[in-house]
Amino acid sequence: MMPEKVWKPTSLEEAWTLSSELGSDCCFVSGGTWLRTQWESGAQARVPHLISLDAFTEMLSGVNVSEDPLKGKHLTIGSLTVLADLIHDAAILEAAPMLSEACRQIAAPSIRNQGSIGGNLLSFSGDTLPALAVAEAELTFFNGRDYVDVPMADFLVNGKKSDDILVFVAIPYPPPTTNENAETFSFFRKEGRREAFIPSVVTVAGEGQYDRETGRFYDVRLAVGGAGMDPIRLLNTEAVINGTFYSQEMLYDVYNLVRREFQPPGDGFRSSFYKTKAAANLIISALYRKGVTSYEFK
Ligand SMILES: Cc1cc2nc3c(=O)[nH]c(=O)nc-3n(C[C@H](O)[C@H](O)[C@H](O)COP(=O)(O)OP(=O)(O)OC[C@H]3O[C@@H](n4cnc5c(N)ncnc54)[C@H](O)[C@@H]3O)c2cc1C
Repeated sequence: MMPEKVWKPTSLEEAWTLSSELGSDCCFVSGGTWLRTQWESGAQARVPHLISLDAFTEMLSGVNVSEDPLKGKHLTIGSLTVLADLIHDAAILEAAPMLSEACRQIAAPSIRNQGSIGGNLLSFSGDTLPALAVAEAELTFFNGRDYVDVPMADFLVNGKKSDDILVFVAIPYPPPTTNENAETFSFFRKEGRREAFIPSVVTVAGEGQYDRETGRFYDVRLAVGGAGMDPIRLLNTEAVINGTFYSQEMLYDVYNLVRREFQPPGDGFRSSFYKTKAAANLIISALYRKGVTSYEFK
């Protein structure tokens, strides 16, 4: 079915009202790159009405650094910012390098120049989700009347209301550490069925601090996701890592914990068993690199 109509609202209020009036006969379109895959594969039915967010491109694109008493220093990414613009952005490389790495590994330049961060998040299986989960991002939605802030942790559990429009993504800068031996680290790894231009089998992201004097990890946050599965934070695994010394035993414990905590669905290409092992291996290899280079052979 071709869309009967592409609506081009000029205010967020108008866009929201259109969506609530047309209900399940419509959807918002940003870059349209994810929707296209859904329609072509038959995973989602085409809808007769598309609500284009094009009119807000200028207003809702770009990265800004701000500081306020409530949120502290943070950066704000407009929801229509295309993925390509997040790869080399200096503020993102400083506050959330795992997000720029996630964007770098998505698809190919043609898609990254068209697909938006908002569309990636709201596809609910995009590669940016684990990176934004460990960054403890906050999403600002317009609900027809107000702007509502939703912590990433709540979004992962509850999703969003269908008519709400994602306006901004805010990422806090990691708080400055007073420990001069602390090293901040972050990682994003994607496993696919080939090197590039392929949906992920699993993605893992992590961020934290490592004390190179004592060999302890702390403030570590981990998340896993991948195409066709709900991304999650690995809260039980994090709780065991934080405060623990780097050691071979610790890596074994983390490996087993990830395998217990992450139970993804299998698909036509990879079983659940394979995905959970892959995620556990990706995470311990990142911790191993940190521990070995900073402490074990010091
Ligand atoms: C060949 C190909 C390869 C791809 N490879 C990858 C990959 O490796 N990794 C990956 O993560 N993705 C991949 N994708 C999927 C897609 O390109 C990205 O997820 C992209 O970021 C989606 O952004 P978009 O602006 O095109 O979203 P759209 O398709 O426009 O929208 C996606 C969803 O979000 C909703 N939406 C969009 N913006 C808003 C908003 N502001 N408020 C409310 N709802 C909104 C739409 O209604 C829709 O449900 C690939 C796509 C293609 C075609």
